[in-house]
Amino acid sequence: HDSPRIALVTGANKGIGYATVRRLGEMGLRVYLGARDENRGQEAERALRAEGLDVHAVRLDVTDEASIAASAERIGEAEGHLDALVNNAGTGAPQAPPSRTSVHDVRRTYETNVFGVIAVTNAMLPLLRRSGAARIVNVSSVLGSLTHAAALEDPTGVFPPGVFPAVLDYNTSKAALNAVTITYANELRAEGILVNAVSPGFVATDINGRRGHLTPEQGARIPALLATLGDDGPTAAFVGEDGSPAG
Ligand code: NDP
Repeated sequence: HDSPRIALVTGANKGIGYATVRRLGEMGLRVYLGARDENRGQEAERALRAEGLDVHAVRLDVTDEASIAASAERIGEAEGHLDALVNNAGTGAPQAPPSRTSVHDVRRTYETNVFGVIAVTNAMLPLLRRSGAARIVNVSSVLGSLTHAAALEDPTGVFPPGVFPAVLDYNTSKAALNAVTITYANELRAEGILVNAVSPGFVATDINGRRGHLTPEQGARIPALLATLGDDGPTAAFVGEDGSPAG
């Protein structure tokens, strides 16, 4: 009986992160469920354990260095290594066109969506390097695609034509995240660590007022797949909801 592979998913008390924990758990992994709020994390842990899954809540605010360090220490002590990191925690300021977006709001979004990913990745890398076949998955968005975002329209019709893709803080944070993904992939390629970004599709979660047309379970499919890639899997890819390149 082999010991289970170990994964960490950030921002996993609800939404796509929660569904990713469930899917990885169903695939037989032991999953650390990151949540910035301890109670929300424990509630999620309880619900998934009731489904028979090997899930452990860990308090992890990706903008808080101390909680990041404590999480790495806890996983290191318990497991000695980490096989998969899913950087899923994400946020966005209230939607406004660029001309009415404050630098303050942009900074806040970047703290979570960009700097948080870098901080968590660097803190977990010593554990990931001990895996032998680690995978890093950054949950991005097609709104961060420089080739596709310009042509996107709001699938819900809530925003007038031309406004929906023009969310400065969120879209540019995901564009930065895509670039961050490639730089890590290039550094870690020689060590066999695969680093990819995913656009999960338009998923009904709190981040969009549940307007998405996919379920969190559908949105979690590709993140879970990228977290469990074989050695011949891609790296530095930006993968869409159907598994094909997201551009
Ligand atoms: P949710 O709002 O349901 O979930 C966001 C999660 O991130 C929550 O668990 C939230 O915690 C957590 N979070 C926010 N800030 C922090 C932080 N500083 N530290 C730790 N956790 C944090 O939205 P989704 O599930 O939709 O979002 C998950 C990811 O998917 C995000 O990166 C988002 O950008 C991305 N995405 C989503 C799409 C969609 O259509 N839904 C489309 C494309 C990308 P809390 O509950 O405490 O607020």
